[in-house]
Amino acid sequence: MAGSRMTGTPHARRALLVLALAALALPAHAEWVRRVTDGIMGTRIIVELWSEDPAQGEADIDAVLAEMRHIDETMSTYKPTSEVSQVNDRAAAGPMPITQELFDLLTTAKEYSVITDGAFDITYASVGYLYDFRKHVRPTEGQIDKALPAIDYRHVLLDAQNRTVQFSQQGVRIDLGGIAKGYAVDRGIDALKARGITRAFVSAGGDSRIIGDRFGKPWIVGIRDPTKGEGSVIARIPLVDAAISTSGDYERYFDEDGVRYHHIIDPHTGHSASKVRSATVIGPYATRTDGLSKTAFVLGPEKAMEIYNRLDDIDAIIVKLDGTVIHSRGMQSAKPAQDAH
Ligand code: ADP
Ligand code: MG
Repeated sequence: MAGSRMTGTPHARRALLVLALAALALPAHAEWVRRVTDGIMGTRIIVELWSEDPAQGEADIDAVLAEMRHIDETMSTYKPTSEVSQVNDRAAAGPMPITQELFDLLTTAKEYSVITDGAFDITYASVGYLYDFRKHVRPTEGQIDKALPAIDYRHVLLDAQNRTVQFSQQGVRIDLGGIAKGYAVDRGIDALKARGITRAFVSAGGDSRIIGDRFGKPWIVGIRDPTKGEGSVIARIPLVDAAISTSGDYERYFDEDGVRYHHIIDPHTGHSASKVRSATVIGPYATRTDGLSKTAFVLGPEKAMEIYNRLDDIDAIIVKLDGTVIHSRGMQSAKPAQDAH
């Protein structure tokens, strides 16, 4: 009770009361609220939003982070108790009931495998778990050969009726690392929309999504130049109501004898997929742009661009091994007028 703690003369007390009432009567001061958080999903989370009431805005950001922590808890393979870890332990033994949320995401993952000719494949983990990029550990050729047959998205059997998952053979492992950050961003955006936010930016590592604009201006997202150090950009992309994901060979890697071992795995070989330096995909949802941004590493720039150009809702920018940049058709037509001559 503020009143019972008040001290001072009756005059001063009245003055305080008047001030307090004036503060209550003032409309809350609308502003951009921004927070950077490290440590969820092993990455940096950035949330920025326009809020009519900054205190409420902080609570809105809390809601985004709660959503992300939940996804980390259920989907991380680093956590032995996560639902995905339990699936890896048990799904080869028979059909295993899972939550609707995981079932839906596994269904989406399968869809992306089909779209990308198998370049995106969550069973990459059947070999992928043998790598530890932080500790510079990689499997021997013998280990890869032995584990490779377990990589195939068709080994993941989904039964919608009973909401179960089953692996068709032993040795299959899944990892949603190629889609979970994008999914978390989408869930964060959903949480903000449900709370009435209409202008916001949410990112988790290389996956971002935007709702609304910045009062008549677009949001600007920079794409890092993979051939240079941190801070250098190859392009600044203006975006409104869109998602953008970048995959790069500089994200999680180690170099050994002139070979770069990094975290995107070619499902056909079990080795690092190194056909481009980076790929940026722009689309409506971050789950989708995340799922599609690994394709160019596995299939190479031309084949990947063919797939991106086939998808109406997708645009892409690829930095090839020689450092040259190619764009999808939609981006080329969006060039400034003076370039059109
Ligand atoms: P980030 O993890 O920073 O978002 P990416 O979006 O490029 O980076 O995703 C890379 C992650 O995708 C890897 O760390 C791994 O978990 C997962 N992954 C690697 N290879 C594949 C693949 N062929 N298909 C699906 N996911 C993959
Ligand atoms: Mg990603």
